[in-house]
Amino acid sequence: MSFLRRATHVLPLYKYLYESVVTAISLANLIREGVATSEASEPLQEDVVFADGLVITELHTRLELEPKLRERLLSSRGVSGSLFCEMCGAPPLSTNIALQEAHFEAHHIIPLSNTGVRKTRLSDLALLCANCHRLLHRAIAIKKRWLTVTKGKVICGV
Ligand SMILES: [Zn+2]
Ligand SMILES: [Zn+2]
Repeated sequence: MSFLRRATHVLPLYKYLYESVVTAISLANLIREGVATSEASEPLQEDVVFADGLVITELHTRLELEPKLRERLLSSRGVSGSLFCEMCGAPPLSTNIALQEAHFEAHHIIPLSNTGVRKTRLSDLALLCANCHRLLHRAIAIKKRWLTVTKGKVICGV
């Protein structure tokens, strides 16, 4: 009887530990993949290391590199002709409709916490021109804290 009572007490703890391990493994996988992808082609990499930790940074970069996420964001913001940067308000640089989307990148507006991986919704993303995106990440790195697009706009002076 006392064994059973003890087992009932201990069970939630084991469940918690198990879930923590599962979360840790999925985080580790995301980071590993993120690092691999970043090394291949990610120009933001130099700008994204900041005090809140490499885990957040790598996950952030990894999510922004998700091509499907960027595609979904672009189509949610309308056809190529109506795209604009949510930080400086600039329209695409190119008048060539086939090249206009190339000007834009997806930026995750909420810093990812260490508490776990969650699904990214389109409302978590901002569409920024490549210049503003770079400036914003540089500002975040310099300030060593997360910045909203509005705050970044002020700090970057755009
Ligand atoms: Zn911009
Ligand atoms: Zn970003």
